[in-house]
Amino acid sequence: MPPDISVTEVKYEGPELVVYTRDPKKFAENGDLIRRLASQLRKRITVRPDPDVLSPPREARGEIMDVVPEDAGVTDLDFHEDTGEVVIEASKPGMVIGRHGSTLREITQRAGWTPEVVRTPPIESSTVRNVRNFLKTERDDRRDILEKVGRQIHREEMSDDEYVRITTLGCCREVGRASFILSTPETRILIDCGDKPGSEDEVPYLQVSEALGAGANTIDAVVLTHAHLDHSAFIPLLFKYGYDGPIYCTEPTRDLMGLLTLDYLDVAAKEGRTPPYDSEMVREAIKHCITLDYGDVTDIAPDVKLTFHNAGHILGSAVTHFHIGDGLYNVAFSGDIHYEDTRLFNGAVNDFPRVETLVLESTYGGRNDYQTDQEDSERKLLEVINEAYERGGKVVIPAFAVGRSQELMLVLEEAMRNDKIPTMPIHLDGMIWEATAIHTTYPEYLRDDLRDRIFHDDENPFLAEQFNHIDGGEEERMDVAEGEECIVLSTSGMVTGGPIMSWLEHLGPQEDNQMIFVGYQAQGTMGRRIQSGWDEIPVGGSGGRTQHLQLNMDVETVDGFSGHADRQGLENFVRTMNPRPEKVLCVHGDERSTQDLSSALYHDYNMRTFAPKNLETFRFL
Ligand SMILES: [Zn+2]
Repeated sequence: MPPDISVTEVKYEGPELVVYTRDPKKFAENGDLIRRLASQLRKRITVRPDPDVLSPPREARGEIMDVVPEDAGVTDLDFHEDTGEVVIEASKPGMVIGRHGSTLREITQRAGWTPEVVRTPPIESSTVRNVRNFLKTERDDRRDILEKVGRQIHREEMSDDEYVRITTLGCCREVGRASFILSTPETRILIDCGDKPGSEDEVPYLQVSEALGAGANTIDAVVLTHAHLDHSAFIPLLFKYGYDGPIYCTEPTRDLMGLLTLDYLDVAAKEGRTPPYDSEMVREAIKHCITLDYGDVTDIAPDVKLTFHNAGHILGSAVTHFHIGDGLYNVAFSGDIHYEDTRLFNGAVNDFPRVETLVLESTYGGRNDYQTDQEDSERKLLEVINEAYERGGKVVIPAFAVGRSQELMLVLEEAMRNDKIPTMPIHLDGMIWEATAIHTTYPEYLRDDLRDRIFHDDENPFLAEQFNHIDGGEEERMDVAEGEECIVLSTSGMVTGGPIMSWLEHLGPQEDNQMIFVGYQAQGTMGRRIQSGWDEIPVGGSGGRTQHLQLNMDVETVDGFSGHADRQGLENFVRTMNPRPEKVLCVHGDERSTQDLSSALYHDYNMRTFAPKNLETFRFL
């Protein structure tokens, strides 16, 4: 440190090192100092003013508003005198940050506070607002958690032994309940902790009890690849079992996990099942989240560094890379991936400094699991919509709230802009609107050109005026059903409940109307039954009597909209991977898919491959 800059305290805050100083302005003037400290100490460093030297918030507010350009659209300033941080919420965070952080430095130089920037959601999102408010009220608790996590990460290594093990807890030769343990002599890391729908009668919570083994304290860290329930549903349950450590994920994954797990509890309650945990545990989980951006190399244990990379699957989804020991071993977990670019996301990253072992999803790993080209799928979708419009029918599409819905919104918005289908209202029902609002809060996680449109041209396609949020309940649905031609996107995606059931009642009986399936319909779901020709379905009648509804509407299926790589995509991911891994574990697929993919990769690329079962342990080194 230069002699004229004082340091009053150095604290751990999760993986970061926080340096408190009485000279925040000099620190900021010395542009290169933080970078040099970080590279010398090989730590992420944050500088904050000592509370003694803080200017009053009223004064600082004036200075900040002076520095930040008006176009940044600042909507809120939140001063935290305990840490010297000011959280700036703005519609255009980039303008608060400035070129290479120049505006941020200027804020500190002028106001003496440490700015942190968050985006004002362009579409009001109750999830984002609730998570931010909750974390604000829990600041004290959270600081204690982060300090404890920091001490754990930076503890001394105790063992001279060297090994790396992976234990499979779920999602092997099956789809659902993804969960793994990565362990070294120093550290045990749990990767994902999901549910398997329909497995209620099987060994309950297999992963959780196995994961915690000798007790909750045997796990050092939890890493979550993405928010889908087959990866995240039991994360809150860990806290009920006494886990008290960090959950590493991206920021959108944290928010989506909140949305999806709360809905999971809601659905369980409506179906008369006792959920395995309550909403208090979801809040605990959110409180313990440490969010990382793609590409941040982060110490999460004395001998493990974690890096997230874009996985192309859903918002915030990550391929997770673990660097173990100092150059000892490297493992990548694909999570769920889409290898090619989609309308929403860039394709999955498969470029790493080093990888010896890859744990690869195999959902569509079977030898015939090829998907239709997305362009062909889109053409067919528009054709079916045009036909329905010409005969005066309305279109209803069951869709998953996260991912598929936003993809469809982009397809439909573009088709209307280019007159490929008539412009008509697109009604969004269920959680789709809220999930879309979360997407617009994190445009940096979307595909390049989509992000650029949102940033630079104020052409946010999600804000197109034909999109309508159904927030008026049954009455609004009835009005829509009696009104002009339109398209309805509604949850649930497999017609297992939710507002789609109302839409079937309102639109199902008329022959002119059109139902279109765009997503996978699992065996045993109502969606699968309708798809395979059922034209009479049971609906909940009044007085507890089941009534039957005659479906006369036309039913079509359009394949090819998927968040998963198909067989070709999975092979391409491995073939072009840099560096080529020595070993591949094929997981997250049924028995046939995992074995097909495993033997194909072995024959084509001459690598050691496995299709493990649940509860197997592999030792490397
Ligand atoms: Zn997924």
